[in-house]
Amino acid sequence: MHISEAAINNDLIETLRGTILFPMDTHAYSTWLEIDLGAIQHNLKTIKAITKTQVMAIIKANGYGHGVLAVAKAVTEAGAEWCGVARMEEAINLRQAGIAGQIMVLGYSPPRLIPAAIEHDIHVAIYNPHMAHDYVTYAAAYHGRLKMHVKVETGMGRLGMAVEQVPKFLGEFHRHPNLEIDGIFTHFAKADEKNSDTTQRQLSVFNDLLTQLKKAKLCPELVHAANSAAIFNYPESYFGMVRPGIALFGLDPSPNSPLPLSFRPALAWKARLTSVRKFPPGHGISYGSVYITSGCERIGVVPVGYGDGYRREPDQRVLVRGQLVDIVGRVCMDQSMLQLDSVPEACAGDEVVLLGEQGGQRITASDIANCWGTINYEVVCGLADRLPRVYLGK
Ligand SMILES: *Cc1c(COP(=O)(O)O)cnc(C)c1O
Repeated sequence: MHISEAAINNDLIETLRGTILFPMDTHAYSTWLEIDLGAIQHNLKTIKAITKTQVMAIIKANGYGHGVLAVAKAVTEAGAEWCGVARMEEAINLRQAGIAGQIMVLGYSPPRLIPAAIEHDIHVAIYNPHMAHDYVTYAAAYHGRLKMHVKVETGMGRLGMAVEQVPKFLGEFHRHPNLEIDGIFTHFAKADEKNSDTTQRQLSVFNDLLTQLKKAKLCPELVHAANSAAIFNYPESYFGMVRPGIALFGLDPSPNSPLPLSFRPALAWKARLTSVRKFPPGHGISYGSVYITSGCERIGVVPVGYGDGYRREPDQRVLVRGQLVDIVGRVCMDQSMLQLDSVPEACAGDEVVLLGEQGGQRITASDIANCWGTINYEVVCGLADRLPRVYLGK
């Protein structure tokens, strides 16, 4: 099969990771992800309507598996002023793809990447006063000014400057020729619990600090704290900007904190049956023959395995012709076997849905997470780069 010019030039091609060679022709793939960018834009606009603040769209980890460049373009177009990622490489990748809005790295930025941060107009997080000296050294050598937001530890127990250190730090650096401190933020540990004491305490520690900084005329302009869960549970945490990640993709922040019904999931994971055949009784299926046919059984093969971010776990189910069917035997790297006796019409070439809807039945990221003993975040972040991402409805 040859690859058409038109397909190569399509602006949705993400080189190497999730390369899309045949944008809309799902028959070109044996397994693929369908991502509804319209749903992501709708979710972003819904958040904006709720908070009436700026939004930093959190699109780390390849846009929660949805494909970061297409997602970045979609959220920017729909009105996100900022994009937030975890690492400098992710931020530079966005700039090189032409994302023009504000970009911030939320985690650690190695000092030697500071010239790149300045060159690409990327904001870093500063959470340790000592790091500022290294940052200044690199920024000064580059004759540039590094933009940064101060990250404050209020109870998350991860990164963040101790509250007591913040006034002194800002006093020392707020007019520094090589630093521009234009934001201050914190992160919640339990925002998915309504009326959590921890979150109330974090908010009051943060607010007390802000009051103190304002009095001393040291408060950076942009204040932010709320992740997706806080957007729904703690309206008092909006400040000047919110930082939704999971909600943009229409996925629940936690089982305690389901999204309002107006949010739409954006992702489906599909595949085609590559084989359907009968095996006689007593036949081993897949590695280790841990599943043995009890009678004459119809067994299908779906070209998806742990190399795609599926899991080598028992009791997984997928949809074939609108019916839930069991995966039997061990999941392989690239393939898994299905028990198809309940769907006698199933044949090779049929569409299989691993995540998403088919014939009125639905498998959600949370359903898969429950089966794996994890959370929906881990399910989508684990979707392998090799899965083609096909974008719909922009
Ligand atoms: C990942 C992250 C977010 C987004 O969290 P969600 O629960 O996905 O909304 C916000 N802020 C920071 C600092 C993060 O690391």
